[in-house]
Amino acid sequence: MSGAKTYDVAVVGAGVFGAWTALCLARRGKRVLLLDAYGPGHSRSSSGDESRIIRMGYGADEIYTRWSQRSLVRWRELFAATGNEGLFSKTGVLWLAEAENPQLQATKDILKRNGVRFEELDRAGIVARYPQINVDGIVSGILEPESGVLLARQAVAAVVGEAVRMGVEFKLAAIAEPRGNGSLESVASGAAEHISAEKFVAKQFVFACGAWLAKLFPETLGDKIFPTRQSVFYFGIPGGDARFSPPALPTWLIKNDECYGMPDLESRGLKIALDKHGERVDPDTQSRMVTPSEADEIRRYVAYRFPALAHAPIVETRVCQYENTSNGDFLIDRHPTLSNVWFAGGGSGHGFKHGPAVGEYITGQLLDESGPEERFLFDKKKTIQHRTVY
Ligand SMILES: Cc1cc2nc3c(=O)[nH]c(=O)nc-3n(C[C@H](O)[C@H](O)[C@H](O)COP(=O)(O)OP(=O)(O)OC[C@H]3O[C@@H](n4cnc5c(N)ncnc54)[C@H](O)[C@@H]3O)c2cc1C
Repeated sequence: MSGAKTYDVAVVGAGVFGAWTALCLARRGKRVLLLDAYGPGHSRSSSGDESRIIRMGYGADEIYTRWSQRSLVRWRELFAATGNEGLFSKTGVLWLAEAENPQLQATKDILKRNGVRFEELDRAGIVARYPQINVDGIVSGILEPESGVLLARQAVAAVVGEAVRMGVEFKLAAIAEPRGNGSLESVASGAAEHISAEKFVAKQFVFACGAWLAKLFPETLGDKIFPTRQSVFYFGIPGGDARFSPPALPTWLIKNDECYGMPDLESRGLKIALDKHGERVDPDTQSRMVTPSEADEIRRYVAYRFPALAHAPIVETRVCQYENTSNGDFLIDRHPTLSNVWFAGGGSGHGFKHGPAVGEYITGQLLDESGPEERFLFDKKKTIQHRTVY
C-alpha cells in the first residue's frame, strides 16, 4: 500500500446521495475521492432521470418534512452560487385525495407545525382551479405553492461540479465488495478486458450505491434493499394548449390512485408515473424499454384523469428503479462488521429531494458530531416489504 494516496473518505456512488456526501465532506476540509462505475447521474441510476419532485408533505413522518425544508434551501443556495437557478422549478405541488385520507390530515398538522405555507382546497375549489383534472373520487386537496421540481440529472452534475471545484477527486471505477471484520484499508476496482484493477486507500468509506447496494453486499443487504422497476411516461400536449403547463397545472400527487406527475417542463410533455412498486430488478441489466402493457395501463389512466389527453401521444419514456427499504425509511449506518464502512441509501422512491440533508447527516456521523436517527439504522431494516413512508 505504501506510496498510494490516502483520502480521508472514499465515497462510492455519484448519485444524489454520494454527490452531496462528497460535497459536504469537502466543505468541512476533508480529502475526498468520489467513485462511480458509470458516471454522475447516469441513465441507469435512480438519480439519472430528468426531474424529481421536492415537496414538504410527508404525512406524520415529520423528519422528512424538516429534511425537505432544509434541503430546498441548500439546493437553491447551490444553484444560485453555480449559476444554475433554472434547475429548480417552483411549480407548486398539489396533493389530491379521497375523503378522510389519513396522510393528508397528518400532512396538514405537520406543515402547520413547521411553518410551511399551504392552501387547503375542497372539491369545488379543485374543480374551479384545475378543470383539466377529472376529480372523480377526489374530495380534498393541499397545495404547497413554494414546492416544485428539481431537474435531477443536471442537478447531480451541478453538485459534482461544485465538489470537484472544492477539491474532490472524481474517478470512474466499479468497486468490488469489501469483506472482512475490523477496519478496512482500501477498496479495489475489479479487472476486466481493457480495465486494470486499482486500489483506493482511505480512512473511511461511504457506499452510496442506490439499488446496487443489494447486489454489492448480497449477504448483508440482499434481503434488505428491494430494487423495483418503475416506468415513467411523457404525454405530448395539444399544440398551443397551456392547460398542462405551469402555472395552470402544478406538480400533482393523486393519493387515490398512487399516481403522480408534473406539468410540461422543458417542453417534454406531461410527465406521469405510477408510484406502486414494480417487479424486482437488476439495475445493471433490466430492460429500459416500457412494455406494451405498461403503456396501455398508463394510457387508460391518462384518459380517465386528464380526458383532454385521451388521444395524446406518448412522446418519451424512461424505466428506472426504486431502491426500497422494507418501509421506505433511508438506510444510513455503519456496515455491521467493518467499522469504517458506511451505507447511505434506501431512498425508496422519495430520496432525491433530500440529497443535501443526507450529505450533511452522513458528514455529521463520520465526524462523530451527532447521534444517529433510529429509523435509519441497519438493525431497523426488515426483510419483508411493508411500506409506511410515502
Ligand atoms: C421513477 C422514479 C421517480 C422518483 N421520484 C422521486 C421524486 O419525485 N422525488 C424524490 O425526492 N425522489 C424520487 N425518486 C427517488 C430518488 O430518485 C432516489 O431515491 C435517489 O435518486 C437515490 O439516489 P442514490 O444516490 O441513493 O442512488 P443512485 O442515483 O442510483 O446512485 C447510485 C450510484 O452508485 C453507483 N454504484 C453502484 N455500485 C457501484 C460500484 N460497485 N462501484 C462504483 N459505483 C457504483 C451507481 O453507478 C450509481 O451512479 C424517484 C425514483 C424513481 C426511480
